[in-house]
Amino acid sequence: MNYQRSSSLFATAKKYIPGGVNSPVRAFKAVGGDPIFVKEAKGAYLYDEDGNKLIDYIASWGPLILGHAHGPVIDAVVEKAKKGTSFGMPTEIETQLAQLAVSMVPNIDKIRFVNSGTEACMSAVRLARGFTGKDKIIKFAGCYHGHSDSFLIQAGSGAVTFGSPNSPGVTQGTARDTLLAAYNDLEGVKALIKANKGELAAIIIEPIAGNMGCVVPTTAFIEGLREVCTQNDILLIFDEVMTGFRLGRGGAQEALGIDADILCFGKVIGGGLPVGAFAARTEIMDYLAPQGPVYQAGTLSGNPLAMSAGLAMLTELNDRPEIFQSLADKTEYLHKGLDRVLSKKEIAYQINRYGSMISVHFTDSPVTDFTSSAKGNNERFKAYFHGMLAKGIYLPPSAFESYFLNDALRYADLDETIKALESLNL
Ligand SMILES: *Cc1c(COP(=O)(O)O)cnc(C)c1O
Repeated sequence: MNYQRSSSLFATAKKYIPGGVNSPVRAFKAVGGDPIFVKEAKGAYLYDEDGNKLIDYIASWGPLILGHAHGPVIDAVVEKAKKGTSFGMPTEIETQLAQLAVSMVPNIDKIRFVNSGTEACMSAVRLARGFTGKDKIIKFAGCYHGHSDSFLIQAGSGAVTFGSPNSPGVTQGTARDTLLAAYNDLEGVKALIKANKGELAAIIIEPIAGNMGCVVPTTAFIEGLREVCTQNDILLIFDEVMTGFRLGRGGAQEALGIDADILCFGKVIGGGLPVGAFAARTEIMDYLAPQGPVYQAGTLSGNPLAMSAGLAMLTELNDRPEIFQSLADKTEYLHKGLDRVLSKKEIAYQINRYGSMISVHFTDSPVTDFTSSAKGNNERFKAYFHGMLAKGIYLPPSAFESYFLNDALRYADLDETIKALESLNL
């Protein structure tokens, strides 16, 4: 395949946009080479600027669970746009999407819309702090909650010490309030709680992690987290930006059988337009302005175009919940196919999967947290990524990302993907 035009567009983009992209992972830094510029997409396929057709496994990093340019979503947006794109005044469709989301997700009474998953997580933590009157939070290494200051923190000298920023521009003061634990390590969490008695507002977690590849919590870990949160008056925040409306109508809470205190959404809830949201029971949500003292706002929050896309998307998922099972079945089929092919190649690998999230790691030990995920052989991952790309398969350009299957993928596409892997020399 030829990617000349993409490369030339990238060269021009770099003159005017830092690194040529508006979000770093698009730039192919982890895999090398120039990123591919998309011209259009339909269903499961991307069509790039050089005229190549690619089978898409990222679906815009999750939102497009029904495939690209899905008819009902596009129609809803187009119709809405003709009536004006933003008012800065309340509209009925905000309540319609809120009502539908609240009816689908367990354990929430009210929801507030924002413009991204980042905003959702940032605001959820502020709300948790306001509600509990405490400052500190625990996050898990390898979990991504957007790019706001509180979350760009790594371990420092040990899990029980204060975090240190892992981006310039995040102050030590902010980092001090974010404590870091290892995923699936309940004892580590308990130690942090003990060392910071009475100071913790919240624990935030990706209930099924998707930002260190797909990593599933053990039952003991996730149940234990719920228990220690309740015992210590700590709010449990499920960041369901990835899992919400993807694992099922009720997201990870329903799939795992665990109730969280605050939920964060993004991705699918916006149907491909910029939407995030956070939600909780009334007593917590009513702490938000204008009802309560915790300030949070947005000029374009609840934007009518974004709401119409989200409403069309969630309506279809609510009416046809069999989509979730069908996606999980396709993902399992892909898993088995990749496994069959890789097992013949005599290389170390792990495949992690949950619902319609899946990731391949080139390592011989099980991937259960960030440390084990980071052990993956990145040279082999690069060869895998570029090899698949050359066969027209677009995988996430980083070993730390989950694939997101979409409903438009056919079994023939999955077979083509498995066949492409067969021919690779890894
Ligand atoms: C994508 C993602 C975010 C950030 O959402 P943006 O819309 O990119 O700001 C937060 N949390 C999780 C789990 C995500 O996957």
